[in-house]
Amino acid sequence: ELADVPLEITGLTKKYAKSADRYAVQELSFRVEKGQVLGLLGPNGAGKTTTLRMLMGLIRPDDGEIRVFGHAIRPGAPVLSRVGAFVEGAGFLPHLSGRDNLELYWRATGRPASDAHIEEALEIAGLGDALARAVRTYSQGMRQRLAIAQAMLGMPDLLILDEPTNGLDPPQIREMRDVMIRYAAAGRTVIVSSHLLSEVEQSCTHLVVMDHGRLVQAGPVAEITGESDTLLVTTAEE
Ligand code: ATP
Repeated sequence: ELADVPLEITGLTKKYAKSADRYAVQELSFRVEKGQVLGLLGPNGAGKTTTLRMLMGLIRPDDGEIRVFGHAIRPGAPVLSRVGAFVEGAGFLPHLSGRDNLELYWRATGRPASDAHIEEALEIAGLGDALARAVRTYSQGMRQRLAIAQAMLGMPDLLILDEPTNGLDPPQIREMRDVMIRYAAAGRTVIVSSHLLSEVEQSCTHLVVMDHGRLVQAGPVAEITGESDTLLVTTAEE
């Protein structure tokens, strides 16, 4: 039943007008099932951000189809209310507490707030007592987890995270990994992009590897990492 499939993309293709000689994303197809944490992996320029922006309904594909719980994605599509997104550079008011920033954001979106959902999002983000402190005292890892709490506030069925581990140190990366695992544990679905396998392999159940806009490899993490000695070395060092 397609209505139960968080994401299915078929033949997704995008060229930017400014670089018309090359595809940013070319004939990309994959499917994400409920409860998966899918890592979208690839080097700079592979097309990850372009893909995620199409999934969020921010830009239109030139060709192909995106279905979220069976509904076609287009800007303003109602099914987008089931999708939450973290993109880099979310701004917070530095002198307000983490909690006050989130409440302000939530009120500004004009959607009815469920206290239970807010408390669950805060719990999953794992910020604890720091929520009462001014955001200016936060480390970068804490700011990024606050931004993810913001994306989680409505408990979206599909959570999209564009490079949430960018600029974080290993302990902060581990915190981020736990946030993603906790979020997906309740049968929700997470898509996370990264250019480093070592940053996401322990949080992801599945991987889609991209390069030059195309899918290179896709499957369960164990299958993909098991195929390469180099990747196994990365695992052993952790
Ligand atoms: P990164 O890890 O650096 O964010 P990425 O995998 O997310 O890389 P994209 O940002 O999707 O890759 O870029 C894919 C290709 O599209 C690149 O060649 C990039 O230069 C090009 N591109 C991205 N955004 C635009 C834009 N707004 N206009 C023109 N070309 C763009």
